[in-house]
Amino acid sequence: MRFDILTIFPDFFGVPTAKSAAGTGIFGSGMLRRALSDGQVEAHVHNLRSFATDRHHTVDDRPFGGGEGMVLKPEPFAAALESIGVPSKAERDPSRTLVLLLSAQGRTFTQGVAHALARVERVVLLCGRYEGVDERVSTLLCDGEISIGDYVLTGGELGAAVIVDAVTRLVPGVLGNAASSAFESFGVADTLLADTHSPAASPRATHGAGGLLDYPQYTRPPEFAGSAVPEVLLNGNHEQVRRWRREKALEKTWRNRPDLLEQAELSPADRVFLASLAARQTA
Ligand code: SAM
Repeated sequence: MRFDILTIFPDFFGVPTAKSAAGTGIFGSGMLRRALSDGQVEAHVHNLRSFATDRHHTVDDRPFGGGEGMVLKPEPFAAALESIGVPSKAERDPSRTLVLLLSAQGRTFTQGVAHALARVERVVLLCGRYEGVDERVSTLLCDGEISIGDYVLTGGELGAAVIVDAVTRLVPGVLGNAASSAFESFGVADTLLADTHSPAASPRATHGAGGLLDYPQYTRPPEFAGSAVPEVLLNGNHEQVRRWRREKALEKTWRNRPDLLEQAELSPADRVFLASLAARQTA
C-alpha cells in the first residue's frame, strides 16, 4: 500500500529514510516508523511549492468575491498529481487509486472508512491550508473530500497523518497480531473475521467488536492508589471474563457513544443487559 501526501509543509511528517530510519516527525516513531522503514507501507510526501511554475513558487491567491485570507490554487495540485503518475479522474480505477482532499466539509473519516482505504493500493491525500482550496481541486481532481471531525484545523496535515496512522495499522502484517484491529473499539463484524479466528475466539465470545467501544483494560499492579483490578479478571474463569468484558463494552458504549448501539450487532442477552442499565438509571 502506498500513500502520497501533497502539502506545503512536507517537514511536518518526518518520513523515515534509508539514512535516518528514526525520523523526527510524526511518522518517525513507533509502529508507523517500522511499517514505513520495512516497506510494508510506503509514504511519499510532496512539496506543493515544487509544482508552482512562477519564480516565487506561489501556491495561493486571494479569493474571488472578496473576503479574508488566501486560497490554494488548483494548478500546483494538478501538476503534482500528473508528475507523480496519478491517472486523471476519468481514467482512475478507484479500487486501485483514490485521491482525497482533506476538508472540514468532507465525509467523516471513521474506522469503517479506514478499513475500506486499507484495501486500496494507492491513497493520495491533498492537504489544504489558509481559507481552503479552490473548489475545482475537489470537483476535477479528487474522488472525494474527507474530514477527521467536526472542527476546523489550520491545515490538512494533521488529518493526513491521522488517516495514514489509522489505515497503516490495518494493512495485513503491520500489527503483530491481526486480531488486535478487529477486537477493539469499532471492531469489524464477526463475519469479516471468519478467516482469521477460530469460532471459539469470535468477537462475540470476547468483547466489544461488532461496532461497540472496547472494554476497560487493566495490568499490574493489582491495586493502585486504593483502586483494585476487578476480581473477575483475576480468577481465571474465561467464561466469566468474557461476560464481564462484553457487559463493560456495552456499558461504555451506552454511556459514551449511544449512537453506536443503533448499528451494533446485539444478542438477546446484550439487549437484556442494556435494558437493565436503562432501568438502573431511571430508578
Ligand atoms: N474555510 C474552511 C472551512 O470553513 O471549511 C476551513 C479551512 S481550514 C482553516 C484549512 C485547511 O485545513 C482545509 O483546507 C483542510 O485541508 C484542513 N482542515 C481543516 N479542518 C479539517 C478537518 N476537520 N478535517 C480535515 N481537514 C481539515
